[in-house]
Amino acid sequence: MTPELPSPSPRIQGWCPGALRPMRAEDGWVLRVRPPLGRLTQAQAAGIAALAARYALHTVELTSRANLQLRGITEANYPPLLAGLQALGLVDADVHTESRRNLLLAPFWQAGDGSTELAEALAQALASPQAPDLPGKFGFALDSGATPVLRANSADIRIERHGSGFLVYADGSAAGAWAPAGEAVALAMELAQWFVQAGGRAGPHRRMAALLASRALPACFTTTPVPPVAVYQPPLGRVPLGYLVALEFGQLPVATLAALAEMAPLRLTPWRSLLLEGVQSLPAQPELITRSDDTRLRISACTGAPGCGQAAGVTRVLARRLADVLPAGQTLHVSGCSKGCAHPAPTLTVVATATGYNLIHHGNAASPPDSVGLTPAALATQLQERAHATPL
Ligand code: SF4
Repeated sequence: MTPELPSPSPRIQGWCPGALRPMRAEDGWVLRVRPPLGRLTQAQAAGIAALAARYALHTVELTSRANLQLRGITEANYPPLLAGLQALGLVDADVHTESRRNLLLAPFWQAGDGSTELAEALAQALASPQAPDLPGKFGFALDSGATPVLRANSADIRIERHGSGFLVYADGSAAGAWAPAGEAVALAMELAQWFVQAGGRAGPHRRMAALLASRALPACFTTTPVPPVAVYQPPLGRVPLGYLVALEFGQLPVATLAALAEMAPLRLTPWRSLLLEGVQSLPAQPELITRSDDTRLRISACTGAPGCGQAAGVTRVLARRLADVLPAGQTLHVSGCSKGCAHPAPTLTVVATATGYNLIHHGNAASPPDSVGLTPAALATQLQERAHATPL
């Protein structure tokens, strides 16, 4: 039976949309596909491309949680779209299971290294009726490679390979607890249970790091220091497991998805890129970004107007225009409002307001502006002046 759409209250957005519980936006319903293990078989990728072409906007979005987002879905198109995704094996059994399976697996796992088994065991534990009742955005990062790569990605409980086992720790803590592989999931669930019992679910942010500002972890979760690692720079192009490609603003045209599906299974990354398993070379396609120095990687933007009802202006068109005048090495985020949901980290930021665009030299969309009420032309002029004044 097709679940009913939630009542349309687009301003209440305390959850991440799923396939079974989509979210209303100005341009229709928004639905997210959470592929198991962050991987799509060729048939699944081709199937999503065909379904989006028929029932949604013709651009699929890559999210920072390694999910695929489909938008512009009408109420009439939702049931056949959901049925199509279910036939592809991409929908959980129920809303409870879907919303709890908020699990980010580092994309460079290899068959036989234990990563997928650990991820499956964690997904199973989260789906259990005994699992703690976690907030919708509460997530787990499973970093099972030799070196952690997900430290900069949002998560509340982190599980990292550490010696012969795993280090399980709360996001924001400088120490965690070590466990052999067979006990890591149980330890992570114990930590999640502590979060709920300590009041994290009722807190203003409902996130682990926010809770740690006022509550100390039990000593058993702080026995092993979290080792420092250099900030991970996600690669593009050829990598040992295949070929990594990114897309401007994470926007993947359905025709491109269909073409990639013919080449290889796809792994989704939290860096809004795709790993084409086993592929060693790619025919040139202008929409695919394959080099880390591509200017398109330095700009980001949220949906903005007209897709988001809270946006006071367009974002992506403006970001593209401003990319040409950015100082070398500088990144830019354009946000449709001060919520800044697509980029919480500080950088050069432009925020649309009812009276023009605000410019923040270094901050996020909620930071105090350095200039207010600018037109796109005035913004471009200010950035040009910055480029000349502060060569990097
Ligand atoms: S930041 Fe962008 S996408 Fe998020 S609510 Fe504001 S306008 Fe909408």
